[in-house]
Formats: sequence, structure tokens, C-alpha cells
Amino acid sequence: RVLVLNSGSSSVKYQLLDMNPDSGGGPAAGTRLAVGLVERIGEDTSRLAHTPLATGGDKRETEGPIADHEAALKAVAAELAADGLGLDSPELAAIGHRVVHGGLKFTAPTVIDDAVLAEIERLVPVAPLHNPANITGIRTARALRPDLPQVAVFDTAFHTTMPEYAARYAIDVATADAHRIRRYGFHGTSHAYVSRKTAELLGKDPSEVNVIVLHLGNGASASAVAGGRCVDTSMGLTPLEGLVMGTRSGDIDPAVTFHLKRVAGMSEDDVDVLLNKKSGLVGLCGDNDMREIRRRIDEGDERAELAFDIYIHRLKKYIGAYTAVLGRVDAVAFTAGVGENAAPVRAAALAGLEEMGLAVDADLNAVRSGEPRLISPEYARVAAAVIPTDEELEIAQQAYALVSA
Ligand code: AMP
Repeated sequence: RVLVLNSGSSSVKYQLLDMNPDSGGGPAAGTRLAVGLVERIGEDTSRLAHTPLATGGDKRETEGPIADHEAALKAVAAELAADGLGLDSPELAAIGHRVVHGGLKFTAPTVIDDAVLAEIERLVPVAPLHNPANITGIRTARALRPDLPQVAVFDTAFHTTMPEYAARYAIDVATADAHRIRRYGFHGTSHAYVSRKTAELLGKDPSEVNVIVLHLGNGASASAVAGGRCVDTSMGLTPLEGLVMGTRSGDIDPAVTFHLKRVAGMSEDDVDVLLNKKSGLVGLCGDNDMREIRRRIDEGDERAELAFDIYIHRLKKYIGAYTAVLGRVDAVAFTAGVGENAAPVRAAALAGLEEMGLAVDADLNAVRSGEPRLISPEYARVAAAVIPTDEELEIAQQAYALVSA
């Protein structure tokens, strides 16, 4: 079994998975035994929602103050123990931690020791919003089970294969190197999983296919994957670059930030909050949920329609750019909350790209399913696919492969 932990600043998401490779009639490899979420850590109204899938039990929800990550993880451990899945179980092989920033050093999942933890801490200046919470999660889990291998799986790792000309910004090299400024990319676990699953759907080996992966969730990123290796991705030093997202602007002229400081009297933090939290779809139309935006468009709301058009325009530009980067594209894969569920986004993103070999079959695109599937017509030269992402399974598989090797 592997426990996967995704620790945010005030939340912990977790899944316990059975990795049993030869199950002998037991659960298949990758079966979820329990899933849950602790939210609002540090507040009086913290909430723990735990679903014991192994026992088929109902979701259990508890509310009340959970002071910190240590208390949160202890509460999770107690829930798991109540189902006979406690952290002291000899069947638990590893804890897999999602770590957002692994910099250049971590190109693969890594068993965490003091030196690894110190290196993840050294990356805090380039990932101030994410790595501190990940570190807290690791520390707490290590304290609970010091004997158990803890594995860090990095969001940046899949992108470390990007060629230097794609990873570097065209700024003064000495300044960039002194401050580790370059394009790292994020959502790598999802891009890795989805590009591999796309190859599987096409009946090919990942080494044989070139895929453009569009991870469209509240955060959103595109990647160009050539023969299983990432060659470009839309997020950069931080997850702010690239596509229009739920609350982030994605690409803008960097001079906008100086202008806001000089002309609008905004501070660094004000601009940070503006671009990360008050921009993107929410900044454009007040909503970041694609369902709500589509509903408003259906009612004739022009602001919602413009927000949608801006979102799609940016997406199209990246599809075009990555087609050029890859030279030959075998598939475009949509994933995450918007990519998996919003048929109008998929249709609009590929509309008018017939010259590039892309097309969407309206009936296939309308199908709702949790399975990987094609949405392109038979004649299309480039496949279009919907591939539900599964970052937890990918983290569990990577962690398990490492500790059982
Ligand atoms: P994620 O970050 O991958 O969990 O994606 C969350 C986003 O997915 C939400 O903010 C919505 O915009 C979008 N989403 C989720 N379900 C649907 C749906 N049924 N139709 C359209 N968009 C959806």
C-alpha cells in the first residue's frame, strides 16, 4: 500500500492505494482503499472528509478545530485506523508526497532523507506558495512513521527534459543563474500520466507518439511531449505563466507589473495577488467555474462570452505553437476539471484547425465518461482525446516502483 499526501497551505488531500502487483484475487493494483481531505487547517471550522472505499462505508465528515498539519495527519491516521488501514500496518510500503518544486536537481521521484529535505527547503524562494506546505507534510509524516520510506514526487520533474532553449528566458544569463530564474513547468505528474495514457489509447508505445497535453483545471498548463519526453511547457518559473486560468492571468507583458507599481501605486504583494488570485477567468468575468461561465453565455452574458473567447484564443495559440515545436503531432489530449468535462471548451479550442489535421466529432465530444476516449472523427490526421488525469495514482506508482526496486 502507498499513502499519497498532497499538502497545501491549509489543506491535506490523501489517498491510500493498494499497489499489490499480483493480487491473488485481492484488489487490483492501484485500487483506492480510502480517500479524503482535511480543509481549513488552523481555523475553528476545519473539516475532515474521509471515505473508506475498501469497506464500502459511507463518507464520514467531522468539523471542528484542527490546529496544524501534525494534528491533521494524526486525525487522518485515526480515520484510517478505524477502518483497519492504520499507518502502523506492515502492508504500508511508502508514503508518497506531492512536492511542487524540485528545481533542476530532482528529475525523478526521490526517497526523502535529511539532505533531500534540505534541498527542497533550498527551493522555497522559487516556490514560496507551495514548497513550505509540502515540507510541513513531509516532516509530519516522517515523525509519525520514521521507519517508513517517504518518497517525494515532483511536479517539475517531468519537465526537466526540456531543452535549454525552451527552459531559459531571454534575460541576462548571470542574473538568471544567480537567482535560479528559468522555466521549470508544473503539473508534471499529470502531463506524464496523460501523455502515456494517450499513447496507450492510440495502441502505441509512448516513445512513438508526439502529444500536446492540455491540463485545464483551475490551474492550467499545456505541454509538448515528444516520444514520452517533455520538450516544452507553458508554466515557467512559477505556475503563473502560460494559459488563462481560473484566477491567474497566464502570459502578460512583464511591463504590466512595473506599470501597476508606478502608475497605480500598487505594491509587489498587491500585484502578486492581482495576477495570481484576481485575474484569469475570475478577473475577466467574476466567475472561475467553467460551468457557470457557460450558463451565463447561454443567457447572453457578454462579459462571460469575452472571458471564454480570451481563454480559447490563448489555448489555440499554444496548440499552434506546440504543433510547430513538435513538427509532427499525433494527438491533442484534454485533461483535468475543464478538459475532462467541458465539451464546449474542447470544441472551441480545436475549431478551425482542420488545416492542422485537427477536428472534433460532435457526438463523441458530447459523451460523458470517466474513461480515456477519442473525440476526433476517423478521418482526422491528428487524434483528439479526453484522458482523465490521475495524479495520485501516478504518485503512488512512482513511489512504489522506487521502494520496491
Ligand atoms: P481541477 O482544478 O482539475 O479540479 O478543475 C476544476 C475546474 O474544473 C472548475 O473550476 C471548473 O471550472 C471545471 N469543471 C469541473 N466540472 C466541470 C463541468 N462539469 N463542466 C465544466 N467545467 C467543469
